[in-house]
Amino acid sequence: MSIVTTSETSHEIRGMNLIAAHSHITGLGLDADNVEPLPQGQGMVGQLRARKAAGIILRMIKENKIAGRAALIAGPPSTGKTAIAMGMSQSLGSDVPFTSISGSELYSLDISKTEALTQAFRRSIGVRIKEETEIVEGEVVEIQIDRSISGGTKQGKLTIKTTDMETVYELGAKMIEGLSKEKVVAGDVISIDKASGRVIKLGRSYSRSRDYDAMGADTKFVQCPEGELQKRKEVVHTVSLHEIDVINSRSQGFLALFSGDVGEIRSEVRTQINTKIGEWREEGKAEIVPGVLFIDEVHMLDIECFSFINRALEDELAPIVIMATNRGISKTRGTNYKSAHGLPVDLLDRIIIISTESYNSEEIKAILTIRAQEEEVELHADALAILTKIGEEASLRYAANLVATANLIASKRRSNVVEVEDVKRSYSLFLDVKRSVQYLGDENDELIASGMIKQDDAME
Ligand code: ATP
Repeated sequence: MSIVTTSETSHEIRGMNLIAAHSHITGLGLDADNVEPLPQGQGMVGQLRARKAAGIILRMIKENKIAGRAALIAGPPSTGKTAIAMGMSQSLGSDVPFTSISGSELYSLDISKTEALTQAFRRSIGVRIKEETEIVEGEVVEIQIDRSISGGTKQGKLTIKTTDMETVYELGAKMIEGLSKEKVVAGDVISIDKASGRVIKLGRSYSRSRDYDAMGADTKFVQCPEGELQKRKEVVHTVSLHEIDVINSRSQGFLALFSGDVGEIRSEVRTQINTKIGEWREEGKAEIVPGVLFIDEVHMLDIECFSFINRALEDELAPIVIMATNRGISKTRGTNYKSAHGLPVDLLDRIIIISTESYNSEEIKAILTIRAQEEEVELHADALAILTKIGEEASLRYAANLVATANLIASKRRSNVVEVEDVKRSYSLFLDVKRSVQYLGDENDELIASGMIKQDDAME
């Protein structure tokens, strides 16, 4: 099952140098105070009102003030609804989960729609787990450099008391790396090979003279002092509730996380996990990080899904749900009622709506320029002008697609620059929706007639 892409996945994809539709977006493009949108920034162009509103939601998310709320980004096709959601996800920080699903995907899965939604909700909630390691973090650490032993004779030793936290952290990190299973307690002495940074020995039974001989003069000895043990080093990692579910589901196991074939998870497993996490929260061992669940094409959901979302938003462990639609007044699937954006009234009642507007030619030009840079395509000024015109008359997405195809045509004639001719050829080879519909209209009789003849033949 591959319904959910997380923001981590998109980073991974970027790492592989794939160019995706939104790979030029690296944030919302707000000013230094994260309040006002810049006319152009972080790959984002125009759409100032919507970006400002998204920025406010982002701030509420960061301040943990908006869990369990929902927003709807509504606007005509190709006006950057998904781009804004991507921009928000990029600005959230790596340990805030961002999950993206498309309304229609829920119908093509082998699990129920509500199970798929539950999984998407739980993928969007992070659990920041704090683990205490057995490593000492203290203001004063004694580092003993024993330079005294030569041929078995003690000649004195040098003890450094350090408050240099870097040394302490450095040692702590090395110890975690090398000794994660061993306990360091007060009075223990560890020795670290200065050249390799490797922890060589740990323990009370350590014999300084013998070990020193074996280790050589480049060895650092660190004594963990008494009384400094209260302060322990914390390791924090964030996993999603869904990952915890899968790992704890007896029929799944953690390997399912790799295969993606998770199937249905029993509700008892989830209840137990919620209880356990509740306990960890009380003990201060875990914190909930509400992330973002983005549902594109939300008008594709039916009334059953909407009721589920309405209820799930009430839950204590709810993410922020951001939906997007390009529909105006339309029927809510599964009912005979029409309403704004195809959403039932009780859900509409609790959401905030951000609207996006169509772009002017300057904005289209700027977006196409960014796309060309992202795809490493050099556009001649005239080619850019004609693409902008196409963007205005057909759609921005169609014009952006022509950038790549025109570039292929240009490279076929061994040119590094896309000229007007390349755009024209690309335009005649690949139709936009309007021309395609027109073509189907013109050829309709023939297409249907040929289909009917075949059907008639078959019946005979
Ligand atoms: P639909 O309703 O058809 O799903 P949408 O409103 O979600 O469309 P996007 O997919 O976000 O539109 O936009 C189409 C393309 O244009 C994408 O490649 C997107 O990254 C880019 N784009 C749209 N708006 C902007 C913008 N303001 N700045 C930069 N790029 C944009």
